[in-house]
Amino acid sequence: MAKMSGAPVSEGHDERRFLIVTIDGPAGTGKSTVAHRLADRLGLQFLDTGAMYRAAALIAVEQEIDPENGPAVAEAVRRSEMHFDWTTSPPRLLLGERCVDGPIRGDEVARVVSIVAAQKPIREVLVQHQRRIADAHPRLVTEGRDQGSVVFPDAPVRFYLDADVSERARRRIAQLARGGAAVDETKVLSGLRERDRIDSTRPDGPLIRPHGAIVVDTTDLTLDEVVDRLEEHVRTELPDAGLRP
Ligand code: C5P
Repeated sequence: MAKMSGAPVSEGHDERRFLIVTIDGPAGTGKSTVAHRLADRLGLQFLDTGAMYRAAALIAVEQEIDPENGPAVAEAVRRSEMHFDWTTSPPRLLLGERCVDGPIRGDEVARVVSIVAAQKPIREVLVQHQRRIADAHPRLVTEGRDQGSVVFPDAPVRFYLDADVSERARRRIAQLARGGAAVDETKVLSGLRERDRIDSTRPDGPLIRPHGAIVVDTTDLTLDEVVDRLEEHVRTELPDAGLRP
């Protein structure tokens, strides 16, 4: 486990050097935007672990590897030199020299990512990678499905964001429409439900509410209201963490 997945603060943990805040939850809760804004406000770095699973799915698609063939995709991911460029905000995701921030948001990746993410060998590679990232970037807001339950279970503050599925679909539809895409609303809703189903029922790192996590229902909240709440929690829980004022 990474150095700072972390001993609790009460055990004399040096929260001025090591501070992990985790945010988990299903698709469409605004996790990425919330995590990025929260990290900015608090002066922490931001890790989007969904982007890493999407990059694994992109590798499978482009190399024509069966997304259910966990060992083969995991091997290709190991060879891919997946890393973030920490000089940008949010950090760009690269495979070798190539930035994949655009391609990982494509339809084909969305279709297979939950299948890829359910494969044990792929989760092993990416969980290990995430802990190594936290060793190098120990003051981090990290978001995903398993960050507070599996990857950093001892993080001093862990959140779980939720929202009604119809509201999550509405947000996704609005986002697609802003991007100029033709939107089939029924398809968006069924795609979201299917991704939730696969993510919540897989044996390894399933989407769960981590024990002891702070649950925030975002259905009736704006993104800024969500960030406000999370910020308040972190500042209250960790008054001596050297957070950005
Ligand atoms: O967060 P995002 O929607 O980009 O995540 C894409 C997919 O990656 C999720 O549906 C899930 O299958 C997978 N994922 C995961 N574990 C994480 C983050 C994402 O399995 N920590």
